[in-house]
Amino acid sequence: MFARAIKASKSSLNVGIGRTNKHCSPQWCPPINRYAHHRSRVPVIPHTSIKIFREIPELREWRRKQLVDYRSVGLVPTMGALHEGHISLMRMAAAENHRVVVSIYVNPTQFGVHEDLDSYPKTWEKDCDILRDLDKELAGDGKNLGSVAAVFAPTTNVMYPSGRPSQEVDGKGSFVTITPVGELLEGASRPTFFRGVATVCMKLFNIVTPEKVYFGQKDVQQTVVIKKMVKDFCMNTEVMVGETQRESDGLALSSRNVYLGARRRKLATTLSKVLRVAEANYLRGSRSRDELLGPARELARLLLMEQHQLQPQERVKFEVDYISLADPDTMEELEEVDESKGAILSGAVKMLPVEASQPGEDLGLSGGPPVRLIDNIILKPVK
Ligand code: AMP
Repeated sequence: MFARAIKASKSSLNVGIGRTNKHCSPQWCPPINRYAHHRSRVPVIPHTSIKIFREIPELREWRRKQLVDYRSVGLVPTMGALHEGHISLMRMAAAENHRVVVSIYVNPTQFGVHEDLDSYPKTWEKDCDILRDLDKELAGDGKNLGSVAAVFAPTTNVMYPSGRPSQEVDGKGSFVTITPVGELLEGASRPTFFRGVATVCMKLFNIVTPEKVYFGQKDVQQTVVIKKMVKDFCMNTEVMVGETQRESDGLALSSRNVYLGARRRKLATTLSKVLRVAEANYLRGSRSRDELLGPARELARLLLMEQHQLQPQERVKFEVDYISLADPDTMEELEEVDESKGAILSGAVKMLPVEASQPGEDLGLSGGPPVRLIDNIILKPVK
């Protein structure tokens, strides 16, 4: 009888330790399981209290505790290779939420079959250092409501429990598609991109259930797609947008800039220069598509012609994919800007690999593959 009781108590201990009991969160568990939850420790980024979640149940358990404690949660989705653009979103989230969750996941379904999924920069150690520094900064700055509390860094098996769906345009799988906005501009050049983005964001929002989610203006069409998804699927979160962070010469920060190498990096400001020309014309009073985009396209043509006159071992070739003047809510092209709504100027330029290198030249990560740069400027409504 006594032996049977010991056996029973051992087996109930085994159920709890190292596993999440899906029927109870810590608050409602019997004492033995409360102890067990305490024992199943979630790792943290060294020298911080930032938890690292790799599985969904542990994260959900933590999230429930925040809800019970009336702590708001903000989510910053990223693909890692963190830079100041990501950090600015985390600062914004920490100012407005008690707890910030940063997700780091290179989402395969938003990469086309011929895109850079395998070579996409993965810098986990450096990302942890950046988060540790940010943690110190936020702790020393009395203005914030909260700080980064957790990183969610799942595997693909966790994010795609039925198996990773195909990256092909007509691939089958459980996808979220937001059309027509997801088919325009970036979506026209990268037909599976916004399907992958919306699908992974839907999963992240379902897992973290954040009060607010943070996205960068840098990827303006993405913000429109996500806002539409949240609205159309009646999701209970608010989409916040942070300003584009730039290098001092105007180049928008991007994890992909490491592919450029020194020579193409100098020319990478072409897109922002071209968009600035159109913006300057808007500020001077131009409203029609031709008046705004004509001079911008002319500058792109001149800058490319200049390069063509150089030797192959000095020049940089690029292709302008699009320069767009679009409605801020739909991303549909405009012939004329409605002053009461403003517009989005955006563009994409493909920097081609250098044709001939000089000895010892820095060509960029992975030998300098083609790099697609995107950027945009908001033309604000005129009051
Ligand atoms: P990514 O890791 O490239 O998927 O980006 C994660 C988030 O950071 C997205 O919401 C991006 O829009 C945002 N982001 C990327 N670059 C910048 C930037 N230069 N300025 C502001 N936000 C950015």
